[in-house]
Amino acid sequence: MAGKPHKYPVELSYAHDRMRGGRWWLFRPVNHLAIVPHPMPKMLSKNFAAYEFECPCGCGYGEMAPAHIDNLQRLRDSVGEPLKITSGIRCQAHNDSLKSIGAASRSWHIPRNGMCYACDITFATGSLSNQRMLRLSTMAEQLHFKGLGLYPRRIHVDSRPGRRARWINHHWNWKDI
Ligand SMILES: [Zn+2]
Repeated sequence: MAGKPHKYPVELSYAHDRMRGGRWWLFRPVNHLAIVPHPMPKMLSKNFAAYEFECPCGCGYGEMAPAHIDNLQRLRDSVGEPLKITSGIRCQAHNDSLKSIGAASRSWHIPRNGMCYACDITFATGSLSNQRMLRLSTMAEQLHFKGLGLYPRRIHVDSRPGRRARWINHHWNWKDI
């Protein structure tokens, strides 16, 4: 078409902006994204969803032992505050990658016959002080966890078959409580 050359490239032209509702669309929040249906997470219990326990390497290996989820939900109910899973299922490869920061090579985080019996937890909100971790572990002690480990900013709980185990990580300092 003859005439004045375009001042702007066609996709930035005024006519093009009018079609899209004006240039202000650039500054509008993307509210329309909120109506995209969000898949409901698969819940394992009232407060815990399956994805929270997945191996972070993305392998999708294993699932949580229902008895452990029951214990965890009981702990969540007695704490009355949201808990965050800092580590759940670990495949052997992912667990081995954590050896340098103290993961046991036969950790209960690794599924046995496809079932994982362990997770590390912390508070989802508020302080992660040793004092608060100690209170959390005291509540866990009153439930049916077979394994209980105290770490700075998190605790380990597991529902392993067999004998109970208790430990305190060497970075834990009683002076900090
Ligand atoms: Zn993995």
